[in-house]
Amino acid sequence: MSNSKSDKLFNEAKCVIPGGVNSPVRACGSVGGQPLFIQRGDKAKIWDVDGNAYIDYVLSWGPLILGHRHPAVIKKLEQILESGTSFGAPTELETILAQLVIDRVPSVEKIRMVNSGTEATMSAVRLARGYTKRDVIIKFDGCYHGHADTLLVAAGSGVATLGIPGSPGVPEKVIENTLSLTFNDVDEFIRVMEKIGDQVAGVILEPVAGNMGMVKPVNGFLETLREYTSKYGAVLIFDEVMTGFRVAKDSAQGLFGITPDLSCFGKVIGGGLPVGAYGGQKDIMNCIAPEGSVYQAGTLSGNPLAMAAGIATLQELENDEVYTLLEAKTKQFITGLQHAADANNIPLKTGHVGSMAGFFFTDADVSNFDDAKKCDLKRFAKFYRGMLEKGIYLAPSQFEACFVSIAHTNEDIEKTITEANEIMAGL
Ligand SMILES: *Cc1c(COP(=O)(O)O)cnc(C)c1O
Repeated sequence: MSNSKSDKLFNEAKCVIPGGVNSPVRACGSVGGQPLFIQRGDKAKIWDVDGNAYIDYVLSWGPLILGHRHPAVIKKLEQILESGTSFGAPTELETILAQLVIDRVPSVEKIRMVNSGTEATMSAVRLARGYTKRDVIIKFDGCYHGHADTLLVAAGSGVATLGIPGSPGVPEKVIENTLSLTFNDVDEFIRVMEKIGDQVAGVILEPVAGNMGMVKPVNGFLETLREYTSKYGAVLIFDEVMTGFRVAKDSAQGLFGITPDLSCFGKVIGGGLPVGAYGGQKDIMNCIAPEGSVYQAGTLSGNPLAMAAGIATLQELENDEVYTLLEAKTKQFITGLQHAADANNIPLKTGHVGSMAGFFFTDADVSNFDDAKKCDLKRFAKFYRGMLEKGIYLAPSQFEACFVSIAHTNEDIEKTITEANEIMAGL
């Protein structure tokens, strides 16, 4: 145990907050460390309370695609702050953010703002059930859709890191209509749909999985989901909370050319403030209260400050060149890691989609959660701790994605690769 300020603050936090954290993975349990308490962030860097600087590839778990304290976001927040923080009555900001999403993501005709990704997926599932008047929801092992009861089955990173199968407190009865299948297994999905397709309300997935590490959809997987949900009248829900405006300007659905019925957003659309959203075709979205009878509400939903951060962020992402730049930076980062591993004879599988990246310590391809779980977790933990000591802040679990922002400089990425080389040499 060190005498750092972070350790002291963690010990104090543990007395008053379960595990000392407000979200489990932050405790860094699986990599055998203690969390750093963060003092501040600027551009691609964060500083802990002991004054150490880190190049940040977590970016608040995805939202900060512009980096920390982007001037456009700060300016907009300051401007809105002048007029108040919350009214619980409509403001124009809500329509502006809704329009920004609708303009970029063609499948979204109407959208409802909520406060987190969890709320978005929970509400989308309720809507799918209300719209179809069916009960069964299909998800995929290793996909995380927030912590709503119905979806907390084989739910990836946080849960996997803790080594618990689902969660106590979720009654069997609540999840008896949730079916979790194998990600990327086209044949299994077809078999299940042919058997019970007419009872399925919705099929929900991360179009690029990011909560079992980063796993891309195999050719034909998304296409098959689209075909069979249409065939059986089930609602196809893309959970783009992580991928939305991250992997491409029109999100994963644009990148892969698949049109889901409903989409969930979060992270980037809040620009670092608490925002989630779900949207889709008008005829489905019009089932939500007060237009329809499927109930969903929120005291702080559409909060002016949260909308402001989202608007400023999406406006900065308007220019296509931003995505080209993000892609180039991410490629530099991830190929650099691959070369570092190759040079040191460390088996490593790497990949990226837009500015979402991932790496697994294994020599086998990873296409689902079982594959991901076979990776060398001890080696990951050692790599993670080594990199942290060198000032590189990666997500503290093999089952998480990494993110690059427009604020990451060539120098930041070069330094990251140089340090990775050194750490790999000692693995
Ligand atoms: C982060 C995440 C969620 C949950 O969002 P919260 O804001 O943490 O509730 C849901 N789905 C996916 C794909 C995510 O990455």
